[in-house]
Amino acid sequence: MSSRYVQPLRILAQSGFLGFVIWLGVRYYRFVQMMSSGADGSVAIRPDGIDGFLPISGLLGTVSWLEGYKINSVHPAAVIVFVTVILVSFLLRRSFCSWICPIAAVSEWSWKWGFHLMRRNLRLPSWLDILLRSLKYLVMAFFIYSVAIAMSPEAQLRFIQSEYHMTADVRLMNFFLHISPSACGVIITLVGLSLLMRNPFCRYLCPYGALLGLVALFSPLRVTRDPDRCVSCGVCSQVCPAYIDVMHKSTVASPECIACWRCISHCRCNGALSMRAVRRFIVPGVLFAVLVVLLFWGGTVCGKLSGHWHSSLTVEEYVRLLGK
Ligand code: SF4
Ligand code: SF4
Repeated sequence: MSSRYVQPLRILAQSGFLGFVIWLGVRYYRFVQMMSSGADGSVAIRPDGIDGFLPISGLLGTVSWLEGYKINSVHPAAVIVFVTVILVSFLLRRSFCSWICPIAAVSEWSWKWGFHLMRRNLRLPSWLDILLRSLKYLVMAFFIYSVAIAMSPEAQLRFIQSEYHMTADVRLMNFFLHISPSACGVIITLVGLSLLMRNPFCRYLCPYGALLGLVALFSPLRVTRDPDRCVSCGVCSQVCPAYIDVMHKSTVASPECIACWRCISHCRCNGALSMRAVRRFIVPGVLFAVLVVLLFWGGTVCGKLSGHWHSSLTVEEYVRLLGK
């Protein structure tokens, strides 16, 4: 059965999550405005899902949790989202990057638009591409070293309870609301590059993507090619946003594969390409789509049901911290 329908499903999931994130951001902005103005805090509700934008807090909280401490109550949702994304990446490869992440969604729409305008996307020479790809692993290693190795468990706890960490979400929002000219220049450059080439931020800079790619190496799922059905047309290699030469692989194990299904959807030889578990069992696209959404959403539901979602910071504490 053709898997063409997977791409509309994926774009629907991306758009839905992007819309959700914008809605979350607006609610969070209103909450902070209300707290900053000293208005009656009893009517303000903090949307805790905003903690999903604090991956360093998520990493720190997860490391502390694995060391035997409780999931911290300052930004528990950051830990839940972080663990959920890691689990999703193990089970369904880097599907978070191509189905859920709003930054990757905007990046993908940009290079598609660039392709539409210029009829091509730029590709760097392989030596430069490999060199730049290593950057995201260096950034990832820096964060993991700083959080999990350089800090003692006691130092991690102190940082988690610090006022800096308590207001990390507000700091992040203020970074974008009062963006410096240099940061603005970096973002404009990245947006411009995203029009010219496929996913430059995800490919070269995102430490989260680097980590998820390494986790996905252990995933039982892989794009698998049947050489007996393949007619070597090369379409799968052409459409791959990660520039993986799918046509010459029997299975795609690369950490760059973002499980977008573009190769499978564009292949016109029925059965030549499929997503398989342990190389044997074919995973239908619709099942994959449902699992991505359900697992991600289910992770947050588990966090809420287990009491590890709402921040313990009171409205009074927020007002005090924001007033400083
Ligand atoms: S698109 Fe399908 S038929 Fe063409 S090279 Fe790839 S796997 Fe083979
Ligand atoms: S190999 Fe296929 S699923 Fe993986 S990134 Fe390339 S097009 Fe997407």
